[in-house]
Amino acid sequence: MNPILMSLIFAVTLGTFAVVAKKRFALLATGRAVDRFDRIPDRIKSVITYAFYQKKMGYYEPVGTAHKFIFIGFVVLLLRSIILWGRAFSPTFNAFIFGPDTLLGQGYELIKDVVATLVVLGVSVFVYYRTVKPQKRMTLSTEGLVILGIIATMMLSDMLYDGAGMELSWRFRSAGPEGIIGKLIAPFGTAHEGFTFGAPAGSLFRMLVRGTTDDTLACLAQAGFWTHATLVLVFLNILPFSKHFHILTAVPNVFFRDLEPMGRLRPLAENAEKLMELVGAVSELEDPTKAPVGVARIEHFSWKSILDFYTCTECGRCSDNCPAHTTGKVLSPKHLMLALRDHLYTRQDDLIGAPTAVPAEGIPADANPIAVGLGSILIAPDMLHPDVLWGCTTCRACEEQCPVMISYVDKIVDLRRNLVMVRGEFPHTLAKPFEAMEVNGNPWNLSRSDRGAWSDGLNIKMMAENPKAEVLFWVGCAASYDDRAKKIARSTAKLLQTAGIDFAILGQEESCTGDPARRAGNEFLFATLAESNAATLNGYKEQGGIRTIITACPHCFNTLKNEYPDFGAKFEVVHHADYLLGLVAQKKLTPVNAVKGKVAYHDSCYLGRYNDIYESPRKILGAIPGLELVEAEASKNKGLCCGAGGGQMWMEEQNTNRVNVKRTLQLLNTGATTIATACPFCMTMLTDGLKSQDKQDEIKQLDIAELLDQSCAVSLPAKAAE
Ligand code: SF4
Ligand code: SF4
Repeated sequence: MNPILMSLIFAVTLGTFAVVAKKRFALLATGRAVDRFDRIPDRIKSVITYAFYQKKMGYYEPVGTAHKFIFIGFVVLLLRSIILWGRAFSPTFNAFIFGPDTLLGQGYELIKDVVATLVVLGVSVFVYYRTVKPQKRMTLSTEGLVILGIIATMMLSDMLYDGAGMELSWRFRSAGPEGIIGKLIAPFGTAHEGFTFGAPAGSLFRMLVRGTTDDTLACLAQAGFWTHATLVLVFLNILPFSKHFHILTAVPNVFFRDLEPMGRLRPLAENAEKLMELVGAVSELEDPTKAPVGVARIEHFSWKSILDFYTCTECGRCSDNCPAHTTGKVLSPKHLMLALRDHLYTRQDDLIGAPTAVPAEGIPADANPIAVGLGSILIAPDMLHPDVLWGCTTCRACEEQCPVMISYVDKIVDLRRNLVMVRGEFPHTLAKPFEAMEVNGNPWNLSRSDRGAWSDGLNIKMMAENPKAEVLFWVGCAASYDDRAKKIARSTAKLLQTAGIDFAILGQEESCTGDPARRAGNEFLFATLAESNAATLNGYKEQGGIRTIITACPHCFNTLKNEYPDFGAKFEVVHHADYLLGLVAQKKLTPVNAVKGKVAYHDSCYLGRYNDIYESPRKILGAIPGLELVEAEASKNKGLCCGAGGGQMWMEEQNTNRVNVKRTLQLLNTGATTIATACPFCMTMLTDGLKSQDKQDEIKQLDIAELLDQSCAVSLPAKAAE
């Protein structure tokens, strides 16, 4: 071919790419440090599952399958591009082992042709969904179509090169010509007369061009060769400026994902006292050399968050599944991600060139020197309205759907932490629950001394009376104080008694776990509550009690299980769905009474998406005679949030299109006569949803423990769920 031309193309395209890539790396390096080089085998497994196998893309959706075709195409065709680049320098170059007369070479030729054809098919599917049947969730820019055009052209030009080369090779099979045609046909090996199954796509192109002259064929082969060889390099240079940057960043983004339990938010400091020092009298807003509390400005994000920004494919799956977005709130996770990314890019020159200062004492271990002299551009409210952050229910539907494993909840909570703890800016309705949790240990501000009143008449011992009790029933605020939720606590306790479990409760020694405070950004309040509860729990552990904690609240469950270990409380924590199912399996509980009716189970986000408990509640319901379990349109990992999480329970909803009503309607559409829950907060929200539809008398709302209690209760006649 032409080594000088190829060398020039390499120099220009790779040189330009190196300059851009260096800048992107420099920007990434300005992010706060986080350690993501641990647990390498788990990270490799993650890459295989989510990046290569693309588990989240869905196998039955055309777009998901099309994306997989294109991804496989890039992997397989990379070798082909290397071979073609090599042929510019040596016409017979076949990467040493992929020559046309070797088995490897013939096998690769076949695979390459099949895969390239699938890529063209995949591109067609994407073009269809961008032009004929556009999907609202996707960013439908011209850029996307141009990129698809480039991908298809790369594939077709390679086929053209093969087709024209094969035909020339056949024509000149006996007399090896000198010059340009000789060089062109050199890589094609043994000539065939017609269609070759070993090179189906190339052969098809050969059929198309075989009526042309030798000179035209030579031109076509040259055109195919140079188009493919150059376009790949041009494409590489477009990537960093487009959403297709994910072609380069998705694999590292999956590799470096957070492998901690999904329900664990990272503490800002090792304890409340240190956190207090960190918050301090002077905030980083006044003194930029001070370490930030949470995130106030773009430069406070970690390098992994910056990698997340680079990697967003703009597919919109997150927003499509976000309860806030789909009910018309201002929060759209996709647009939040893009706004943060665009803001980062507009500030990249400032950030890369900024001098740094070592922050004051008391900083978290993962803090970097802070860039100073940048001026203070706050993310909220300077670049986005705080309502965007306050609309989130922390349901994780976005993260569950994101094909490239981008995280949202940590970012949103970090932004809330700064608003709450540094600036004191939060929805006014949160003020009372914050104060109530601090003073009375529950967000309803009810008396601490009434915390155990729900158990009156059940003969349940307090831990103070039975300090060696190995099983603690952690009741939580909702089931302790809310009249409806108290019945869940009573049913759970009765079932434990029926099964002969020696358990106790903490009564007024129990305080809110702090989950609503933490998710609403009040990390200091959370840390204070966590330390106090951890001291109580560890006190009994030292006396030989508490080995297992059971709770009927998924929020308490998640916090005790995944977050309290950071505060020194390490226990076996079990949600009542798992525990009760275990008792049924051990025949310590036997559901015998029929509970007739259609029951739709609503998945709690903190049980399902956060802790992967989908089956236990369903198995409990399935064990109850007479009960017919039906599934809502969105269930399990796609289930819609009830709208209470992330502190929303105590916030005013931003518009009249309510999340709980949307979810209630989905559940009602199943034709169920009973809605079953495994979370007292979901129960409250769905009960309100039923009231909004005037269905509260017609449709029952019961916890799985209440249904099981009905079925296990002695001497109950068969009855409808009530
Ligand atoms: S966590 Fe839930 S509410 Fe928050 S952005 Fe994600 S999908 Fe939306
Ligand atoms: S964050 Fe993930 S799900 Fe949302 S648009 Fe970006 S790639 Fe798609």
